[in-house]
Amino acid sequence: MTDTTNNNAAAPNFPEQVTGMYILARALKNIGIENVYGLVGIPITEAAYIIQGQGIRFVGFRHEQQAGMAAATDGFVTGKPGVLMTVSSLGFLNGLTATANATVNCYPMIQISGSSVREPIDLEQGTYEGLDQLNIAKPLVKAAYRVNRAEDIPTGVVRAYRAAVSGRPGGVYLDITTPALGQVMDHAAAEALLQQPVDLQPSMVPAAEAVERAAALLASAKKPAILIGKGAAQAHVEDLVKKLVETTGVPFYPMSMAKGMLPDKHPLSALSVRSTIMEEADVVMLVGARLNWLLSRGHGKWNQQGQFIQLDIDPVEIDSNRHIAAPVIGDLRSSLEALLTALEGKKMAMDAGWVPSLQAQSRVKNAKFAQRLADAVTASPMNHWSALSAAKKVMEANPDVILVNEGANTLDDTRDTIDMAMPRHRIDCATWAIMGMGMGSAIGAAVATGKSVVAIEGDSAFGFSGMDFSTICRYKLPVTVCVFNNGGIYNGIGEPLDKTSDPAPTTLDVHARYDRLGDAFGAKTYYVTTPAEYEAALAEAIASKVPALIDVQLAADSGKESGHIGYLNPAPLIDITV
Ligand code: ADP
Ligand code: MG
Repeated sequence: MTDTTNNNAAAPNFPEQVTGMYILARALKNIGIENVYGLVGIPITEAAYIIQGQGIRFVGFRHEQQAGMAAATDGFVTGKPGVLMTVSSLGFLNGLTATANATVNCYPMIQISGSSVREPIDLEQGTYEGLDQLNIAKPLVKAAYRVNRAEDIPTGVVRAYRAAVSGRPGGVYLDITTPALGQVMDHAAAEALLQQPVDLQPSMVPAAEAVERAAALLASAKKPAILIGKGAAQAHVEDLVKKLVETTGVPFYPMSMAKGMLPDKHPLSALSVRSTIMEEADVVMLVGARLNWLLSRGHGKWNQQGQFIQLDIDPVEIDSNRHIAAPVIGDLRSSLEALLTALEGKKMAMDAGWVPSLQAQSRVKNAKFAQRLADAVTASPMNHWSALSAAKKVMEANPDVILVNEGANTLDDTRDTIDMAMPRHRIDCATWAIMGMGMGSAIGAAVATGKSVVAIEGDSAFGFSGMDFSTICRYKLPVTVCVFNNGGIYNGIGEPLDKTSDPAPTTLDVHARYDRLGDAFGAKTYYVTTPAEYEAALAEAIASKVPALIDVQLAADSGKESGHIGYLNPAPLIDITV
């Protein structure tokens, strides 16, 4: 039977009978899923209604990629998988970009997609939205499963959940075919399928000799440092990280999304002296951080005689870029607890001058930085630093507001300017440094935590997800979006080389009034041109706890090509910033 013009199975005779869609909703509820992010259409529309009917929050988006970014952020902040639901073909593909990104970032999430009838897909007969989704997803995700029968849906959900959170977390794809979604089953038999899985996220305890080796190396170091990554944020181990830093007195450096695990203003924070840590530390302990490109893959400035300790859940990560002298494989809670115990009897050999010299350098650098912000206050039009001098005051006065941040200069400068005081309160474009996570991540953070969110977005970055500002408004979320408008990708002063009448490739709209997009959806809106106006608007928007959009007018020449990572361009092209 290959006739797919009508997929409708017979309607179930409720309550004696139910469909696969009902079983899916019950399976998600049974495993503790509280929020589902998605965009409906054939074949998942009714499933979304039933999910809502189960008391799960269904957040409907305007684009699947943003729904996926929301699910990924939900996974990051809660440690439980965020769930994305997509329709077949393009909806699936749009969502898959976010699931692939989640996998790279080790965020636990599950993309559940409806898919068309199998037989005509496999015979390539040209069916509605016919795409072999499972095989497309496979190389991009941590695990991928397909469910062809309603009775297998609970197993599919449990397996997807376990795959997303166990070991190194990641994105999981769960394909459910249209016939399975529509299949009618006896209600009682369906309920009987729902068992409570035991130990969904098991501890992984490290080997005692690995812990001892690491403790001995850390204790023997003259100039040690602890490098905290977003794996530690995701593992919710801020209590143990604090204990480790404060009992050993070893300075720490947080990676971008680990900012706030300990306050950035902590006396042992080495945030301002990253280069010194790289050049001089003799033992560096990585806690849920990878020695990837964001850390020059352990080369470049790094002291080549230095030794590394690495605490990670994934044994395959070890030695990926630099020799690791003391790997500790386990979940971070188990590993840090064991390490703290092993350190109890040991004396730290740290040089007495190490921390004071880092603190002295930090004071000098922080004073210079403060001066740069102060000097920018009078710039007219504003540049990034003028705007950030205002944002810094308001954000630091509201430490429990989650900061979402993307862009090029807007990303780099905001990260350097705004100190974080609480864990998992900074969410950015992370490992791949991608653009187009802003509205989705802001929504996921607000929905998953119930907290207020501020998204500081470059104007270009905002463009990727701007339409989902309407989702913020529809769900009345306490999210303030600030568009740093310098009129371009990097900046707004690009000149086309051949002097065509078209705009340059980097040029956007410096006079666009992004705040008026907010007006269309009933948000509180502001257009600000000075730091004082921005400070007042941001403080008021946060306090209002309603959707708000602030157009922050910058000068078109503020910002340089590729922000802080211009060196990654294939060649030092024509410098478009001069
Ligand atoms: P950052 O970009 O902040 O350096 P990465 O995402 O590159 O962070 O690295 C995070 C690391 O944390 C990954 O290698 C991942 O395997 C590890 N990780 C994630 N969750 C846990 C956990 N619960 N226990 C131990 N390691 C973890
Ligand atoms: Mg810009």
